[in-house]
Amino acid sequence: MLDIKAIRQDFPILTQTVNGKPLVYFDNAATAQKPRVVEEAIVKYYETINANIHRGVHTLSQLATDAYEEARKKVQTHMNAKHDYEVLFTAGTTFGINLVASGFGSLLKAGDEVLISAMEHHSNIVPWQFACERSGATLKVIPMNQNGELIMEEFDKLLTPNTKVVAVTHISNALGTINPIKEIIEKAHKVGAAVLIDGAQATPHIKPDVQDLDCDFYVFSGHKVCGPTGTGVLYGKEEWLNKLPPYQGGGEMIKTVTFEKTTYACLPHKFEAGTPNIAGGIVLGVALDYLNEVGFDNIAAYEHELLEYGTKRLSEIEGLKIIGTAKEKTSVISFNLEGIHPYDVGVIVDKLGVAVRTGHHCTQPIMDFFGIPGTIRASFSFYNTKEEIDVLVEAVKKAQMMLA
Ligand code: PMP
Repeated sequence: MLDIKAIRQDFPILTQTVNGKPLVYFDNAATAQKPRVVEEAIVKYYETINANIHRGVHTLSQLATDAYEEARKKVQTHMNAKHDYEVLFTAGTTFGINLVASGFGSLLKAGDEVLISAMEHHSNIVPWQFACERSGATLKVIPMNQNGELIMEEFDKLLTPNTKVVAVTHISNALGTINPIKEIIEKAHKVGAAVLIDGAQATPHIKPDVQDLDCDFYVFSGHKVCGPTGTGVLYGKEEWLNKLPPYQGGGEMIKTVTFEKTTYACLPHKFEAGTPNIAGGIVLGVALDYLNEVGFDNIAAYEHELLEYGTKRLSEIEGLKIIGTAKEKTSVISFNLEGIHPYDVGVIVDKLGVAVRTGHHCTQPIMDFFGIPGTIRASFSFYNTKEEIDVLVEAVKKAQMMLA
């Protein structure tokens, strides 16, 4: 059982008023709020050990290097990666997917196929389009049904020996659907394809076990797991990280440089060119510590309660339609009000202190599939409450009355 009152006290931002009303923050799928320990760790880093890492002999540089590499080990433990050098620090999910897709752009050839799904974020579509354009490979899409679930029989049919990469999201940011990624990974491996899992929406709710999943790549963003923006992680299996070419050239990623030829550093440095976001990496470790202390089982159970309560309460509103009714769902509710544009609802509920997201959520193909311009999305975190859901319901009713 979570002590929500105590947890909320860890998040200073939640105590404020917005537009004269107590803030109800339901835009957690876009970015999570930060606990005080995370804020304090940022200040502490800059006030005590700020220095460039890996190449300094002086004490601060060594302290900063140790803290950065310790954070990498924390992420390794968190994801159950076999080696710490399989954990690359990135600027976020988008960066991680681009790194992998760009590498495949030079490994793929005409006739090869890349499989993504109908519910991908643009970040897991566009980089693969680049890779296919560059290599002549073909991009194929696993379709979904009206509930927003992948049609696994169609996935089976799409898998062939030509499939070289399968890139799917663990959880949909627009619908909340939890995909059967273990089954997807197992089946993809049978045809010899590499599998990338976009964990941007899963990692705030689920602790991924990359060895158990047996995925080849798993990416996520620090800012969605209570860490700083501009941080993220790309887990890659050693064999794949060795096969992929470097993404960016520069300092740190080299072994030797002459004007004729450059050789590359070993993992993980081969993919970490330039001075990284040192404070960011260290503090991402602090954020994961915080979440692990709260406990992912507790988080999942409580958020499921919020999902059920929110679904029930919102469904009571006449003319409200929930988009995304998968059996396996996380605490994201996308919905529309009949005859009303989602944006207008977003503006009115904001005036009442409620922060929701409206629009296509960087998933335009999902909106096209459902034939809608966008949705209103309320996404709940473990620091939210049922009382806040009641505030949302009243705010949506008010918006409906004003706009009808
Ligand atoms: N994939 C999914 C499923 C997401 O929800 C997001 C963020 N909305 C991204 C990728 C991109 O993450 P970022 O903007 O942090 O790189």
